[in-house]
Amino acid sequence: MESIYSGISDVVNLWAVCRGGTRALGPGNRYVLWTQGCLHRCPGCVSPESRPFVPRLILSVDEIARDIISREDIDGVTVSGGEAFLQSEALTALFSAVKRERPDLSNIIFSGYTIEELTGEDDKALLSLTDVLIDGPFVESLRTSDGLRGSSNQRVIFLTPRLLPHKEELLSGEQLRETIPLGNGTITIGIPEKKAQSDHFPHNTKRV
Ligand code: SF4
Repeated sequence: MESIYSGISDVVNLWAVCRGGTRALGPGNRYVLWTQGCLHRCPGCVSPESRPFVPRLILSVDEIARDIISREDIDGVTVSGGEAFLQSEALTALFSAVKRERPDLSNIIFSGYTIEELTGEDDKALLSLTDVLIDGPFVESLRTSDGLRGSSNQRVIFLTPRLLPHKEELLSGEQLRETIPLGNGTITIGIPEKKAQSDHFPHNTKRV
């Protein structure tokens, strides 16, 4: 997807990062990145803070890659948002760097785009390094409590067989939520139960 981030592959602009890992956004203990900036306008968006295109947490791809690679207690990486595919070049560079050193880690991405819309070369490059894509916008009237989907229009697409053993969990498993410290406060990670309330769910309803 063309965006203000096009051509940038050495840094990412994030809403937040969960370095210690969580079990609320996919199988095992997962490092999570929430990207900053989204062009979708999903009514009932539970992560409105991640939508504006403002500099938030700008980190170098090298630094994040080194951090992920060094964490022996994680099983994979989940990217939520915001919209991940607006920063596909940087995320491709990140996934490539991590894969070289930690091929054991799986990758999950939430996107407000459907896979049919992700046709650019940068989109395809990122998809080629992704094990599971959860696609499509969040539709509040279709809210579901099934697995990692926020609404039933979203699809859990297995791009590789790696996470197929977790298919049931991803499609229809119990939705977990975990509150962790962030900055001076806390955030609750996981698929929101309903509309955002006082806690912040970094996306994923389509995502945290
Ligand atoms: S729900 Fe996700 S895709 Fe939709 S507007 Fe909010 S951040 Fe963007």
